[in-house]
Amino acid sequence: MAYDPNNVFARILRGEIPCKKVYEDDFALAFHDIAPQAPVHVLVIPKGAYVSWDDFSKTAPDAEIGGFIRAVGAVARQLGLDEPGYRLLANTGRDGGQEVPHFHIHLFGGRVLGRMVAAD
Ligand code: 5GP
Repeated sequence: MAYDPNNVFARILRGEIPCKKVYEDDFALAFHDIAPQAPVHVLVIPKGAYVSWDDFSKTAPDAEIGGFIRAVGAVARQLGLDEPGYRLLANTGRDGGQEVPHFHIHLFGGRVLGRMVAAD
């Protein structure tokens, strides 16, 4: 799938749509999900134009992958979640239920999160 430069996260990156920013560096932007599903529900997105985890892991330069992974960890620590713990999720493609076609990691925390995958 070709990258759609008008997807909602691309528009957030360009500042065309506001977000509740949590963290930003050269590689990543993190902001609160508009419809949180846990007490803490933050989205971490790379600054580069990647459709999905599959696209990112296949085509991103090593420096962007490393920078992004470091940023995800930094966001969790900044939110104080490293000690109680948290969950990362990357919905990928149709079966993964991905809705926004710009690669993103969901970061959930703030309570004990239960089992890994919803039944439906
Ligand atoms: P996906 O299903 O693609 O993994 O998750 C997309 C996420 O983006 C959803 O959790 C949804 O609530 C969130 N989202 C969609 N549009 C916006 C928006 O305009 N702003 C923010 N902050 N989150 C959004």
